[in-house]
Amino acid sequence: HAPNIRPIIRPLDEAAINRIAAGEVVERPASAVKELVENALDAGAKRIGVEYSAGGKVLIRVTDDGCGMTPDDLPLAVARHATSKIDGSDLLNIRSFGFRGEALASLGSVGRLTLTSRAEGHDGASLSIAGGRMGDVRPAAAGRGTVIELRDLFYATPARLKFLRSDRAEAQAIAEVIKRLAMAEPQVGFTLTEVSDDAPRVIFRADPQSGDFFDALHGRLAHVLGRDFIDNALKIDVDRGGLRLTGYAALPTYSRGSSVQQFVCVNGRPVLDRALLGALRVAYYDFLSRDRHPAAVLNLICDPERVDVNVHPAKSEVRFREPEAARSLIITGLRTALAHAGHRASTTVAD
Ligand code: ADP
Ligand code: MG
Repeated sequence: HAPNIRPIIRPLDEAAINRIAAGEVVERPASAVKELVENALDAGAKRIGVEYSAGGKVLIRVTDDGCGMTPDDLPLAVARHATSKIDGSDLLNIRSFGFRGEALASLGSVGRLTLTSRAEGHDGASLSIAGGRMGDVRPAAAGRGTVIELRDLFYATPARLKFLRSDRAEAQAIAEVIKRLAMAEPQVGFTLTEVSDDAPRVIFRADPQSGDFFDALHGRLAHVLGRDFIDNALKIDVDRGGLRLTGYAALPTYSRGSSVQQFVCVNGRPVLDRALLGALRVAYYDFLSRDRHPAAVLNLICDPERVDVNVHPAKSEVRFREPEAARSLIITGLRTALAHAGHRASTTVAD
């Protein structure tokens, strides 16, 4: 740092820009899986297969039966800030998981990414991009839908690679992501498979659930969280002032020793929102001893204009225009349901 040398300001090149963005969007293999599966859901997939090896460090492959992409779409899909989901004029009305147009460009800059896709009425094609360098669009045999293969994640950013945890820990984080999304999308089928030198091993499988939303959710939660959860859960469906809260909340008798079974979505998007999880705790305060934690799977539905999902690149945080309304609906909605259930239980005992 010689004081009398004036630093030169220059624009970063595209590859560097993408790697910097990747640092925010893709923290670990599980975040890559989240982005790819959300893309499949946005594409209207009914069945999504996820394969990985070495905790996702060596391979992540996501296969979907969604709308697919045309050969001309492929270079755009991996271009930064290109998206089919919004036109940029209305950041307040976002209904899809994606909208930033960053995930594929980021993944293609820090790993080796191959897209193979076919849209209805078009030929199949594939395109590879590795370390930010894009290959050519090539014809490829493909069923309708998309296969995205990500190999050697972070090979282009060795510093990040060093921060990854053991294969086992990364695999577990991938399974968590899949289970969260499976609970948010009960009508979609999910399969998670670990690929190793030995035979592939199915880690998690959830068949698409039919029926109305609550039927489907009921079936899916029985599968993901277990019969014990759902047999002890109250159906929640309350609305107030344009906000609606749906889901299942476990009776206090089915409490947990930690917060592992607390899942909150906002407009179908799994979020890790302290205020909302805090509201869940407050709702159960009078019903649980201090060392016990509630179990619930909730979805808060509101006009997309009332919630900002563009707070963080990974989109796991949201900001409400009226945060108190969201909190208070969770607190009063759950309290009422729990009090009602308690009343029912005590009158049954009295009978
Ligand atoms: P975003 O999801 O924010 O739009 P991405 O980088 O994740 O950004 O994806 C870029 C674009 O590539 C999407 O807008 C979509 O048009 C297309 N795309 C990505 N994955 C799929 C998929 N599985 N099926 C169909 N189209 C896809
Ligand atoms: Mg996306």
